[in-house]
Amino acid sequence: MNQAVEQGTLYVISAPSGAGKTSLVAEMLRNDEKLGVSVSHTTRAMREGEQDGVNYHFVGRPEFEAMIARGDFLEHADVFGNYYGTSQVWVRETLAKGQDVILEIDWQGAAQVRRLIPECVSIFIVPPSPEVLRERLIGRGTDAPEVVERRLAEAEEECRHAVEFDFLVVNDDFSAALGDLLAIVRAQRLRMEVQQPRHRVLLSGLSGPG
Ligand code: 5GP
Repeated sequence: MNQAVEQGTLYVISAPSGAGKTSLVAEMLRNDEKLGVSVSHTTRAMREGEQDGVNYHFVGRPEFEAMIARGDFLEHADVFGNYYGTSQVWVRETLAKGQDVILEIDWQGAAQVRRLIPECVSIFIVPPSPEVLRERLIGRGTDAPEVVERRLAEAEEECRHAVEFDFLVVNDDFSAALGDLLAIVRAQRLRMEVQQPRHRVLLSGLSGPG
C-alpha cells in the first residue's frame, strides 16, 4: 500500500531588525534536525560575510521580476526598497516530504503565507524594550546613526503587526527565547491532528474492541 507521507509544518517567523531572529533560527536548526529553513531570493546587495545560496539567493531586479511573473514565489514583498521572496516549489516539496520548514520573512510576507496556508504557525519575536533594540542596532557597529534611526522606525512599523501572529516570544535572554521557540515546535508536534495518524493502532488498542 502506498502510505501517504504526513505534511511537514510551516513556521513563519518575523521580527524587527535587531530582535535576534537570525541567530535564534540558526540555533533552532542546530537543536532540531527535523527543521529546515527556506533560503529566500533578494535583490539587496550582499553584506560582508554572507554567501550566495546560503544566506540568500542574490539576484538582480530583472531576474526577480521575471520570477514574480512566472509565479515562482509563494510570497514576495518589497522590504525597505529591496525585493525579497520565498520559493514556492522548494517550500511545497519540502513540506510534502514531511519536513518542517521555517520561513524568516517580514510581516507582509507572513500575511500572504497565512492567507495561502492557514494551518501555518506564525511566531513574532521582539526585543525586551525599545532601549535594548536601540543598543543592539548601535552595537552591531555596521550602520551609520541615520541608518540606525531608520531601522528603529522600520522596527516600529514591523512591531505594529505583532498581534497578527499566533505566538509572541520576547528575546531578553537568548537561551530562554530559544527554549520558547523549541517549545512551540514541540507542542505543535503533539497536536491531536498530528499525533492521531501516527498512533492510530495504539489509540484503537487502548479504546478496546468497542
Ligand atoms: P535583511 O536584509 O536584514 O536580511 O532582511 C530584511 C527583512 O526582510 C527582514 O525582516 C527579513 O525577515 C525579511 N525577509 C527576508 N527574506 C524574506 C522573504 O523571502 N520574504 C519576505 N517577505 N521578507 C523577507
